[in-house]
Amino acid sequence: MSIKALLINDKYSLPKRKRGSLEANTVYPAKNPNKNNYKLPLSECAVFFDFDNTITPFDVIDDIVERFSINKKWHKIEKDWKNGKIGSKECLERQFNEVRIKKAEFIRYLSTIKIDKYFSKILTFLKRREASVCIVSDSSSFIINNILKNNGIKGVKIYSNRLKFNKDKLFLDFPHFNKRCPKCANCKKSHLPKIGIDDKITIYIGDGISDICAAGCADIVFAKASLLKHFRKQKRKCIKFDTLAVVYNYLKEIAQ
Ligand SMILES: [Mg+2]
Ligand SMILES: [Zn+2]
Repeated sequence: MSIKALLINDKYSLPKRKRGSLEANTVYPAKNPNKNNYKLPLSECAVFFDFDNTITPFDVIDDIVERFSINKKWHKIEKDWKNGKIGSKECLERQFNEVRIKKAEFIRYLSTIKIDKYFSKILTFLKRREASVCIVSDSSSFIINNILKNNGIKGVKIYSNRLKFNKDKLFLDFPHFNKRCPKCANCKKSHLPKIGIDDKITIYIGDGISDICAAGCADIVFAKASLLKHFRKQKRKCIKFDTLAVVYNYLKEIAQ
């Protein structure tokens, strides 16, 4: 059953459904999301945020690779990844192999990064309504935790890759790599609730190729950049956003 049907019936409890069957966009155009007075029960929602270029205003991993690589090999690697020749894991491993930076300098660099100021507002809003929130990212917990802490955010569950330092070399480690989904480094969809076990309404917010696997399984998707392009190409519904202000206003409008 789609959200449209829920709206018509004005039911708040969710019927048995297939993952991905709640499709919001045609029902709530972003300009006037709540014209049908539907209220989304946020306490039944699990909200997933990508990190790079979703919570941060640019892709920090790309920036690290561009800034601190000792050569230009990353260009070709990036191209191969974009063309689908290699998966995210191989791409990140090979790109980080050419990066050199000492830990102290790296931490200094991370301290310069500001996040979208609406992330904190969304978190407060969602927590008050008992929605579960987590970050799923191809970055590392070290990077994400540092940036969040510098921006006054704590206590968000993170599923990401792991970063290790050895002198001026950085190594990524992939605890959530899934052989059955070889394009992913951190297979983001593996963190989404399992249907029938924890039957939540899943909301996904992301921007990139690495979000396709999880966003494709979510009920409501906020998308920008490559993820938006992909969804449009596939003629799948999603809500376009540029900054998290759009997501915040939309959720506020539609939430119970
Ligand atoms: Mg991203
Ligand atoms: Zn995957």
